[in-house]
Amino acid sequence: MHEMILCKLGEVVLKGLNRRSFEDKLMSNIRRRVSKCGSFRIYSKQSTIYVEPQSGACDVEAAYDACRKVFGIICVSKAVPCEKNVQAIIATAKEYLADSMRSARSFKVESKRADKTFPLTSIQLSQQVGGALHQAFPACAVDVHDPELTVHIEIRDEQAYVHGPSEAAAGGLPLGMGGTAVSLLSGGIDSPVSSYMIAKRGVNLEMVHFFSPPYTSEAAKEKVLSLAKLLVPWCGRMTVQLVPFTEIQEEIRRSCPEEYFTLIMRRFMMRIAQRAADQIHARALVTGENLGQVASQTIEALGVTEEVTTLPVLRPLIGMDKEEIIRLSRMIGTFDTSILPYEDCCTVFTPRHPRTRPQLDEVRAAESVLDIEGLVDRAMKGREFVRLKY
Ligand code: ATP
Ligand code: MG
Repeated sequence: MHEMILCKLGEVVLKGLNRRSFEDKLMSNIRRRVSKCGSFRIYSKQSTIYVEPQSGACDVEAAYDACRKVFGIICVSKAVPCEKNVQAIIATAKEYLADSMRSARSFKVESKRADKTFPLTSIQLSQQVGGALHQAFPACAVDVHDPELTVHIEIRDEQAYVHGPSEAAAGGLPLGMGGTAVSLLSGGIDSPVSSYMIAKRGVNLEMVHFFSPPYTSEAAKEKVLSLAKLLVPWCGRMTVQLVPFTEIQEEIRRSCPEEYFTLIMRRFMMRIAQRAADQIHARALVTGENLGQVASQTIEALGVTEEVTTLPVLRPLIGMDKEEIIRLSRMIGTFDTSILPYEDCCTVFTPRHPRTRPQLDEVRAAESVLDIEGLVDRAMKGREFVRLKY
């Protein structure tokens, strides 16, 4: 028995005329992901992408786990091909699905015939295989309405396939179909989740992180890189741009009113992120901002923050409760790292009384004493680039 992986397409199937390019993108994304697990043949037929190991050396389990995180796939299952006759199908199902049949309380068999010359109808085939499985595993009852386990049999041109149970996969759209955006990644809980959510809609991400030594430590920077690494299986290979932010923060502290520290700092983040985006032809910025969470996230503050960029600022967490964000953060695996206690540059010079209803003209006047272009230029020049792969 050699097992293979079947990936069922999600929203890609709604793409009409563009569907071909979505499928091609998805296949190349899968190919890149599973390449480290061995040599696989990858092809698509009827809303399914087949990932077939080419030798016994392939790590099918690892490839299966990787496929579950590829955006554009709605569910995955494993399947075993066999000869196209009822006896072979029954023997394969009995052996391959023994564990699932033993642990499920009820099951049904569903058959599909792509090859219409097969001598049995789908219903006849389901009945015969179902009967044989029930005989072999009498504790598992037949239930055609609400079974715990559905056994899928497919008759295709060359072979028949017996599927194992399917599991939910990542959903969303294939990475790359939605272009590229720059995501502002801090060491907190929110921005890894916002990055994940925008990547899920098919957008490639380049990360930008601001750090302020000696106010922020080397360990804080390492923490952000660890978060980025945890995002790679979802968001794909990426570059993290580490932007030195100390000079900007010190200048703001020296020359601007305390109540506007955070907002002026955030405007610098946006300007630099936009510059970085322009260089790589990215078309949007992504942040983990969330309405009302902190003083710099009131509607007025968000307006003042985004006024310095012409790019759309995507804030996928804007209306979510912290609990929902935490749930997602646990699901994608970043939560435990996010809560490690390291300082972020945002918390270095926090004003005692930040303005929650800032006036744009006051903020502009307050920052006008700074050499904005010079500060941005130097921060851009001081960037360090870290490339992360699968
Ligand atoms: P997070 O949990 O993502 O840190 P937060 O609720 O702590 O978010 P802020 O610290 O105000 O909120 O930051 C809001 C957003 O600004 C973050 O979600 C992130 O997108 C961006 N951001 C904050 N600090 C940094 C940083 N040091 N480098 C890059 N982006 C940052
Ligand atoms: Mg933060």
